[in-house]
Amino acid sequence: MAELITPILTKGIGELNLREIEVYEAQGGYAQLRRAVVELTPKDVADLCNGSNLRGRGGAGFPTGRKWSFLPNNGRPRYMVCNCDEAEPGTFKDHMLLEQTPHQIIEGILIGAYAIGCEHAYIYIRGEFKRGYAIMRDAVAQARAKGYLGENVFGRGKRLEFTIHRGAGAYICGEETGLLNSLEGKRGEPRLKPPFPAVKGLYGEPTVVNNVETLAYLPHIMRNGPEWFAKAGPERSPGYKIVSISGHVAKPGNYEVPMGTTIRQLIDDCAGGLRPGRSFMGVQPGGGSSACLFEEHLDVPYDFESVAKAGSMLGSGAMVVFDDTTDFVKAAHALVRFYAHESCGQCTPCREGGHWIEKTLARLLDGRGVDSDIDVMLSAAHQLTGLNLCALGDSIEPFLASVIKRFEPQFRAYVKRSAPIPVVA
Ligand code: NAD
Ligand code: SF4
Repeated sequence: MAELITPILTKGIGELNLREIEVYEAQGGYAQLRRAVVELTPKDVADLCNGSNLRGRGGAGFPTGRKWSFLPNNGRPRYMVCNCDEAEPGTFKDHMLLEQTPHQIIEGILIGAYAIGCEHAYIYIRGEFKRGYAIMRDAVAQARAKGYLGENVFGRGKRLEFTIHRGAGAYICGEETGLLNSLEGKRGEPRLKPPFPAVKGLYGEPTVVNNVETLAYLPHIMRNGPEWFAKAGPERSPGYKIVSISGHVAKPGNYEVPMGTTIRQLIDDCAGGLRPGRSFMGVQPGGGSSACLFEEHLDVPYDFESVAKAGSMLGSGAMVVFDDTTDFVKAAHALVRFYAHESCGQCTPCREGGHWIEKTLARLLDGRGVDSDIDVMLSAAHQLTGLNLCALGDSIEPFLASVIKRFEPQFRAYVKRSAPIPVVA
């Protein structure tokens, strides 16, 4: 029920105008940034983050403190980049935070920047988030006027600069190295890793790229203590998470819950269950790139390990629910078309394979498919996985394979011919 919902980052949203700095300050906003800069050393702040075992909320779930610890002590400038290029199909939590509570994001970024010894932080905002960009721009101006960022933060001689950068509508710029290339004014193409950005990132310097939600939890971890966060949810996947629930549910939306809440609770108790009279067919627990889970997985706890053990991934926390009105051939086609379109083209398996599978699904939907298409598609999707520079190429197989295996008759029903189409000279 509603008790599951634990507003932390989402507290006050829909009730208060948190875009105004005075409203945010009245809720305790910027007090933790002040505490960090005035009372604590960067190491103290990094230790607080480490103690919470906060894991990245952008998709990979990498431990935040560990990522920071990879920065070399080479005396070179370091950069903190907040990734607000949210574009995973089904994900819409960062968009909400950006538009509703921009100061919480700024405070989190600046705390993170202070912890890693960075003097210049960036936020990369998805091009389509036009309103969010304008809101962030105003919020940064307010924070600058208050002396929370600039040349002499809190009069302590600390420099914390901040740049907002708008993307231009490419999904691949959400991949951290594609994002860094785009920030540098180059084509938004992923780089070969290693070197990871922590070693060689923006302008070739050590860089941390963290997601919006990850950084926004920092002021709360400082305020409530790392144990508070570490104790919520399972030991290896602790804390809270905003889950974007969409698809065939009564109340789609963003719900902030403790990690380890079950998938069933999220669908039934948070999102109001399925639409009246419908039955459950499947759910993508981690957005478009994740394999579909089914009835037998409804009681799986929603945390990184449990969802992976069930055969899928939590990703950035986007659940897409499917009821019995779903045509899984059309759903698979829509997703594969998206990934094929967004491929940057550097890797042959991703570039060629995505389009090939998309065309095969389109042919099937057109009534021009042949029996062997289904097995060949499964094999092609599997073969193109793991051979690419970034996760995009590997995003094609999970959903496609999971729904073909589960709902093969739906795919076979589209096959009108059993023999190959004759080649006409
Ligand atoms: P990754 O596992 O390669 O890396 C995760 C993070 O840890 C990165 O910041 C990386 O630099 C760092 N890291 C990992 N190993 C390191 C090492 N040895 N040294 C230093 N740093 C290291 O994953 P990724 O490619 O960054 O992210 C993939 C995920 O992104 C996908 O699983 C998907 O869920 C998610 N995604 C999210 C969105 C969205 O809109 N939120 C969009 C597309 C994909
Ligand atoms: Fe580009 Fe696809 Fe290769 Fe990623 S996997 S670098 S999107 S071609």
